[in-house]
Order: sequence, then C-alpha cells, then structure tokens
Amino acid sequence: MATADWPSTGIRLDLPIPAPATAARRTASLVVSRLDLEPPVNIEELLRARAEVHRVDWPHKTVDAILLKLSGHSPSVYLRATDNLFRERFTMAHELGHLMLPWHLPRANCAIGTGNLDLEKYSVEDEADIFASCLLIPDAWLLDLLRVHGDDMSEILRELNSAEVTTIAGLRALRRVLISGWIFVAYNKEIIATPGTSAHELRNMSVRKARRRLESQCYASGEAIVNDFTVRWYQMFSPAEPPERDPADGRTLHQQLVDAISMVESDEHERTHLANVCNGKVGGLLREASGRPATETFSILKYRFESSHVAFLLEQPDFISWLAEKARTIEAGDTKAKKGRRK
Ligand SMILES: [Zn+2]
Repeated sequence: MATADWPSTGIRLDLPIPAPATAARRTASLVVSRLDLEPPVNIEELLRARAEVHRVDWPHKTVDAILLKLSGHSPSVYLRATDNLFRERFTMAHELGHLMLPWHLPRANCAIGTGNLDLEKYSVEDEADIFASCLLIPDAWLLDLLRVHGDDMSEILRELNSAEVTTIAGLRALRRVLISGWIFVAYNKEIIATPGTSAHELRNMSVRKARRRLESQCYASGEAIVNDFTVRWYQMFSPAEPPERDPADGRTLHQQLVDAISMVESDEHERTHLANVCNGKVGGLLREASGRPATETFSILKYRFESSHVAFLLEQPDFISWLAEKARTIEAGDTKAKKGRRK
C-alpha cells in the first residue's frame, strides 16, 4: 500500500499522518516554543549545542548521516557533504530529532526524507523526519500563514522560502496543517494531495494528463516558486457559506441527521449505519480542524461528502443544515475530548 505502489510517477495521495508521529510533532513544537524559534531556524547551532558535527565526503549516496552516541562521550554526527544545503539542513534537524526523542536509540545510519509514511513500515526514521519538518517549518508558524493569507496559496507557498528547506519538505510540512481539498504538483512530477482529498483517479495518469484533469476540475489554481522550483496548486473545493439554522427548529442535531437519513433510507439497520458513517466523517475533521472558521470547514465537509459514497445525502436540506451546525461546532472547538478534560 501507500507510496510503494506508485514509484513510476512519484504520486503520493491522501495518506493519513500516522498517530506515532504525534509525539515527534509535540516534542518539536515544544522546542520551537521554548526557544522561540522562527524560520529560518539556525539548525546548525542547535545541533552543535548537543553534538560534534562533522561534514564529510563519502560516496554512499543512500546514507545522509551517521550518528554515534557512545557512553561517556558527547554524540557525534557525521554529515554527508552535498551541494544541496537545504537538504543538509533537514538532515541536521533529523539527527537532532534522534537526540531529542528519548526513545530513539543511536542508529548506525540515516536515509532522510523517504516520505514513506506507511503505517506498517513506520519507524523512528519517519519519526525523526516529522520532528525535522516540525522544527524547521513549525506548525504555529504555518497556521499563522494560513490565517494571514487565507486561500491565497501562491502567497503561502512563497512564504515557505523563508524556512530554507527543499521544495518537497516545504510541501510535506504544508500538508500537515491543510485540511482536505488541496493538490500540489512539484518538479512537474510529484503530486501531493492533502489528507482526505479525493485524488484516486489520478493514480494511473501521467502527470501531464493529471494536470489537465485537475485544471478542469478545480475551483481555483495558481503557482509559485519554492526553492527555485515551480509548484502548481489546485483548490478542489468551492467555498460555501453555512446556512443559518431555523431558530424555531427544536430538534436535536442528532434528530436532524436521523430525519435527513430517513428521507432516503427505509431500513432501520442501514439508517444507523449511515448515521455512523456521517458522524465518523465529521468526527475526523473535528480533530483536524478544531478552531478553524466555520465557512472553511463547512466547505470542506461538503467537499468530503461530495466525493464519498453517501453524497446523495447532500440533497437533503436537513443534512445541509446538520453539516452547517457541525461546522460551527468545529469552529467553537467544542469537541467531546475537550469537554472531558474540563471536568
Ligand atoms: Zn535517522
């Protein structure tokens, strides 16, 4: 599964960010806030404070760095000298990840940034990559860019240049904070979709054909230069304003959903199943998008349902109204988990 199926075009689709990455992400954001880091992060200084760093020439292109941690000695990092300084910055951040994530044992060697976020093969290497990404391109900084520039993706992409990372590292980082409905084409060969974006039909297409398809289906598109490479972006969802709920409607939200489903499904067992599917889809976004504006999450919820097997529900006014209220709940950040913590 995952990227292994698609080596020919380098297409990466809507892989979720695996749960174990959360610890690496949290640790990185803790470091960012404690040291008040902002791009461009002085990663060499941070690494040299914790290890001896040696930049060396060696012929093995599959190994980017070696970390030695012998007891009684301070750690040593041997970094493969390349002509790509932004890649080396990422390698240094990756090694810092091994040093700062306490459960990482010293590794013989590191191959950085394979991007194979495959749950089955998920390893401390991926975890160090996530740490590196979250340190050099912090979540808080990215979320700020989204707040300032909204849907102006060309401007957001241009801002990524200040992080001094490779084009692909910048896009992978951006993918962390964007919700469904964005697709990027980088180097004219890599296609990257944000989680939950429907892009399976691109799977067996040449990039040229995929671009034509995206151009005809997207709501908006544009491009920007990131680290000297052109990145083309496609916004697949159209912005939609959540309708106001009729104040005289005394039903609970759950009842409204049940009523919408009852309009199209007579079998009780199937109705329960459909309600679970709907709640599951919305619940996923609750975790990803808590606090985001209702207009944004409503547009994305609609997009997610449009590209699902329960798209027929969108024809029901009660269902649209239910989605709108859910989007407002997400904006308020009123999740069950939060309610639980308050007790
Ligand atoms: Zn490593």
